[in-house]
Amino acid sequence: MDVAGVAQTVLLGWYWQNEATCFLQNQEIAKWVKHAPDRFIGFASIHPGSSAEAVIKQCQEAENLGLRGVGELHTGVQCFNASSPGWLALADWCCAQNWPINLHATEAAGHDHPGSVDTPLNDFVRMARAHPQLKLILAHWGGGLAFFELNPRLRKSLRNVYYDCSATPLLYEPSIFRRIIDIVGYQKILYGSDFPLRLYPRRQKSPDYYSFLDAIRTDAALSNQEYRAITTENMQDLLGNA
Ligand SMILES: [Zn+2]
Repeated sequence: MDVAGVAQTVLLGWYWQNEATCFLQNQEIAKWVKHAPDRFIGFASIHPGSSAEAVIKQCQEAENLGLRGVGELHTGVQCFNASSPGWLALADWCCAQNWPINLHATEAAGHDHPGSVDTPLNDFVRMARAHPQLKLILAHWGGGLAFFELNPRLRKSLRNVYYDCSATPLLYEPSIFRRIIDIVGYQKILYGSDFPLRLYPRRQKSPDYYSFLDAIRTDAALSNQEYRAITTENMQDLLGNA
């Protein structure tokens, strides 16, 4: 972070397949937040495939640990969908607490890569329609859902859906920034580092923040305002501390 001039990041949890591991990770993230509260904001690992009661308990534990959002979750790996009781309880809780939820979105069409598990795009639409106030952050450009906002009816349903650009160098050409901005507006796009994943495996010996940020600055052709919004201000707005 220091090398790349990154002042503050959101630490995301992983989409673990059982509650106990989610809790362990939340404790670890809470330790980092406590260590440097001005550098780190913590999001919680939650298992929405559990019962509604179990999910609420996980949320309360995460809140007690000082975490402020949820994610990254995975509908395919964690076995839930838009009508699962655990998901509905989580979405209710997050609406009430004004917590954003980050969901992994696998590209609906693309190349096969190891460990890739499908996340049906229509599930995200159902989630957004059932909880219009919910701030949903779909990772990796929503697996392509952002493109469908060209449909005006869908755009209305997805008005509180945000897209992060994590993994872009592995999936798309840099012009995706301009193209998606033209469709959804820069206010709905968030920077995602994917750290500690190496986004340029051929030339990156170790993970860093710098390479992708530098590529965005040089290749994505963003205005200063768009760059600031995507890397900083949109997330501050989402967290309600602009
Ligand atoms: Zn992901």
